[in-house]
Amino acid sequence: MKRTELIETFESALINPADQVRQWKTEQNSGAIGFLMSDVPEELIHAAGLFPYGIINGKAELEKADTHLQAWVCSHARNSLALALGGNLDFLDGLIVPQTCDTTRMLLDLWKHVRPLAYMEDFRLPRQVDRPSVGKYIIGELERIKYRLEQYIGRSIKPEDLKHSITLYNHNRKLMRRLVDLHAQNPVLISNRELYTIINAAMIMPREKVNELLVKIVSTLEDDLNATEVDKEHVRILLSGTLLEPMDILDYIEEFGGAVVGDDFQNGYRYIEADVATRGSLIEALADRQLNRIPSAAFDPAHNPRRFFLANLANEKKVQGAIFLHLKFCEPENFDSYDNLQAMQNAGIPAMRLETQFGRSGLGQLRTRVHAFMEMVGGENV
Ligand code: SF4
Repeated sequence: MKRTELIETFESALINPADQVRQWKTEQNSGAIGFLMSDVPEELIHAAGLFPYGIINGKAELEKADTHLQAWVCSHARNSLALALGGNLDFLDGLIVPQTCDTTRMLLDLWKHVRPLAYMEDFRLPRQVDRPSVGKYIIGELERIKYRLEQYIGRSIKPEDLKHSITLYNHNRKLMRRLVDLHAQNPVLISNRELYTIINAAMIMPREKVNELLVKIVSTLEDDLNATEVDKEHVRILLSGTLLEPMDILDYIEEFGGAVVGDDFQNGYRYIEADVATRGSLIEALADRQLNRIPSAAFDPAHNPRRFFLANLANEKKVQGAIFLHLKFCEPENFDSYDNLQAMQNAGIPAMRLETQFGRSGLGQLRTRVHAFMEMVGGENV
């Protein structure tokens, strides 16, 4: 299979996610558990013999959620609930919602009411991540999720199954990080859109299949890296935010000469960074990963605040500009917004904030603003 065909498999999964989940469920005679955002330990779901399904993308009719959600709720929560209400997530048997903000704190209870599923859990993430007790707390939370999954499947999750799942996910993250590296080394090899299509599709595809495809894609890209002249014309851009949405922004950046060489999105680099140890207590290892991940708007350790992390990332990746995507009504992102822009200014990196939302509205304006920004940071190259 050619590389374009391999990438098309990821594109098809994003366009029509339901069929492949249903096929997997029939073949495996098992169920699928949805999860919001990327802080949920998928390895536990996988080790329970279930299909972890990231509810990140998927275009729903947002107004379907209007009866249930206040007007100020972010379009990610609105889109996710609208997908469920529209029957687009009928293949799910369960749901885990990580508590990342006030919205997610109430979303599970609401979901239970309007679309009850056999298994529904909160993952209560700590907010004060530098407290000495946080390690013990998160281990307790992971044990609770594991226990509830075990109750649901009617058997224990064996340590060897959890180790297998962790190894599989580590391999997956490593392959995707290699993809990110290759793109940053020479953006001509794989486009912005292709790279993030793969990362997003991985969240909704069987992990074994994702790894099989990724091994082939990475191998062809590595061959091409040596044979292709490095493109020096691309303007190096840092893209930051809670969720990368709409994906069209990737096309606009590329259209005006840019390559995204760093990000911190839940459906971007934050999803694939940091691995889980496979020695000692595996639950402790999962807790370690959670506590040592890169910061996000909802998970901002005092010892590594997000604004400094992003400024360092921008310097390390030698970016020429930073674009902050602010999902409208995302409260945690709201709190970070000023500090992040200030940190870029202090680092001498031009930065712009764009308000975004799920859905197709406002794309023309977004493209115009990206064009203007790229002209400013790219000078004659754009
Ligand atoms: S996008 Fe922001 S407001 Fe919406 S659920 Fe995620 S953290 Fe909460």
